[in-house]
Parts: sequence; structure tokens; C-alpha cells
Amino acid sequence: MRPDRPAADAATASLFRRIEERRDELVALTRDLIRIPTVNPPGDAYTDCAELIGRRLAARGFTVGYVRAEGAAGDSDRYPRTNVVARIEGPRPGPCIHFNGHIDVVPAGQGWTVDPFGGLVRDGRVYGRGACDMKGGIAASIIAVESLLDEGRLTAGALEISGTVDEESGGYGGVGHLAGLGYFSRPRVDHVIIPEPLNVDRVCVGHRGVWWAEIETKGRVAHGSMPFLGNCAVRHMGAVLHRIETELIPRLAARRTGMPVVPEGARQSTININAIHGGQAEDHGGLPSPMVPDRCRMVIDRRYLIEEDPETVRGEIVAILDDLRRIRPGFDYDLREVLAFLPTMTDAEAPVVQAVAAAIEAVLGRPAERVVSPGTYDQKHVVRVGQLKDCIAYGPGILDLAHQPDEWVGIDDMVHSAQVMALATLDLLGRPSRASAT
Ligand SMILES: [Zn+2]
Repeated sequence: MRPDRPAADAATASLFRRIEERRDELVALTRDLIRIPTVNPPGDAYTDCAELIGRRLAARGFTVGYVRAEGAAGDSDRYPRTNVVARIEGPRPGPCIHFNGHIDVVPAGQGWTVDPFGGLVRDGRVYGRGACDMKGGIAASIIAVESLLDEGRLTAGALEISGTVDEESGGYGGVGHLAGLGYFSRPRVDHVIIPEPLNVDRVCVGHRGVWWAEIETKGRVAHGSMPFLGNCAVRHMGAVLHRIETELIPRLAARRTGMPVVPEGARQSTININAIHGGQAEDHGGLPSPMVPDRCRMVIDRRYLIEEDPETVRGEIVAILDDLRRIRPGFDYDLREVLAFLPTMTDAEAPVVQAVAAAIEAVLGRPAERVVSPGTYDQKHVVRVGQLKDCIAYGPGILDLAHQPDEWVGIDDMVHSAQVMALATLDLLGRPSRASAT
């Protein structure tokens, strides 16, 4: 809290002070989490990281459970998909506020000037893979909740913290799995806050929709010196790309949304050509042989708006392919859906949105910005599988730094976001839970 802001009350000031005093502990916890290289893929060291969180919270009186998503994609004895869920109850019934963070990080990649798993602290920042996305946010939520307990403020209701896996690869073994078991549904939970790095002064209420598909064009092999005797699948794919380029992309760019997506460039419908391959593999030894390719595959990544119908999103691609089949000799295709998630947007009047926005204003002294993420995150599973609409993302860290080399999180931001999370939690604990209210 800024000194020039009027203190809401002595108890709030005391809570904020306690979090500020635990700044070094917050940094230490963030570093400890970064030093466990929970790289996904393949899903390394998940159990170590889940146990670090679980042991810490068990020592604070939480009931801790570990849930392995056996049978989920990637799960094996070498790479178990281990999630941790910790819960503590107040002396009286009331709402449950749940903080969910994904413990997996994307691979470090190239271009780092510091050790990606060293947790270096320099100039008010903690560096490392996952510093902002999202181990800094997990640490901030833990410090927020622990500080509330230290202050004796859990007088009713319950608090939960989960560390979940595989968010970066769809979340099926993490929040998706737990949601299927009822962990993200009423009456167990009332409000979910996901400390993703959306910036310290923003409430993220949802995300655009996603539709990934693989298109395969088909042809017939022949000698490369006589291509007229074959049927070139790569040229067919060229025709598909041409239609996407000249027809679909301009049409998508013209579709604007009322969703407050950040960055601004994502306030339209988009398509990315994620991958394309045709003909012989690139990594063959020696020289290629002269062949007309009979297969070409392309993966597309459509991100769409809440104003768009998912059937239309698919239908636009099918229309292009069917039209080419009609007018282009020898053209044939297969279309396979890879994954699909509907757009989601939590109501601006939802208690969790209001509580976090008010807490941002109280801590930072400026109004909160309500935003929507261009890409999806685990909120989709909470909303779709858990049927829980009171879910947002809020956490420290700058979104643009996620997945980049030299990723970092600001220490001031972490402290402020922990204060926001603690104050918002107090606000929500004081409201009747939906399950108990009639
Ligand atoms: Zn993330």
C-alpha cells in the first residue's frame, strides 16, 4: 500500500505489513520453485515440486493430497503427472477460495544470459524459466494465504491451494483431471483465482476460443522428372494456403470483438499456420530422391471470439476445402480436429472479479484493468468441466516475458500481488457462499 493512500483499517494495514515483512521469504520460495526444473515436455520433476508445496502447507495445518493423473497423456512412472491440493478450514462454514497455479514450465530454449534454473536475484527481479509463468504467482498466493492465517483472519470458510501439471500442454493431466474429479465444483469451491502473469493491475476474466486442426491433402507418387504423371499434394496444399491468405485472413481481421483482449492486436479473430510438411522427411541422410509427394499435412491454430460460433469456425475451413475439391482436379483431403476450447468470459459482476478489482485499487492506488487473454489457460477446465463460473486469472509478472529467454518476475510486483490476493480473499470470505445462500 502506498503511504499516501488512506489505510482501510488497522487490520488491513497489519496484513499488508506482514506480507511486506515476508518479502525475502517470498523471493526464497520463488527461487526454490524455479530450481526444480519442471520442464514440460516431458514433465520432469513434477512430484518434487508438488511435494515442496505440499510439505510447506502441511506444516501450516493444511490437509494435503496428491493426485496423480494416471493414464493422462504423458503420464508414466518416469514422468508421473503429480498434482497437489491443499485445504484448510476455518472454524465456521463459509465460502472456499481456491488458488490454482500450474507447476510446469516450458523448455528453457536458447538465448539465456543467466542460468534458467538458477533463480538469480538481481535489480529487484528473480530470473529463471517459470519466474513469471508462473512460479512467482504460486509463491505470492502461498505467502498471501499464510499471512492471512498468521493474522488469524480465517474465521469462516476455507482456503485451498493447488499446484497442477501440464497447463502448457492443455492441462488435461492437471486442472482438467482434477475438475473431472470434482475439485473445481460447488459446493467444494466457490471462487478460483489463477495467478497467471497478466500484470499486477489487471483482472483477466477469460480467453478467446481455440480450434486446432490438421489438414491433409492427398496426391499420388510419381517420378519427379515427370510430375504430370503424379498428383502433387504439396501444390494442393499451396492452393489451400492461397485461399486462407487471400480470403480467410482478411475476413478474420475484419471481425472485431467486445472482449477486452490484450494485446490490442488480438481483438480480432486469428489463424496461425502452426506447421506444414510434405514429401520426404527433412532429416534424411544424403540427397533426396526425385518424387512427387503424395501427402502434405498442415496444422492450423484458429483463435476466435466470443461473438463467433464454433461451428462456423470449422465450417469456414471445410468450405474452402470442399470448394477446392469441386474445382481443382485431383484434389482430396482429410480434416482432423486436434483440440477445441470454447471462448470463456467471467461476468464483470462476479464476486471474484469485483473483489480482486477492488483489492488492486486499494493496494496500488489505481483502478484495475479488466482484460481477456489471447490464449487459453486452465480457466477453461474450471468453467467447462467444473461448471464454476467464478474464476479469473490474476498474478504478478509481465505477460510478454512468458516463454522468453531471461524470463523474470519483479519482486515489488510479487509483494503487491500477494497483498491484492490476501485482501480479495478476505473480501470473498466475508460473503455468503453460493452453496449456503438460498
Ligand atoms: Zn502459465
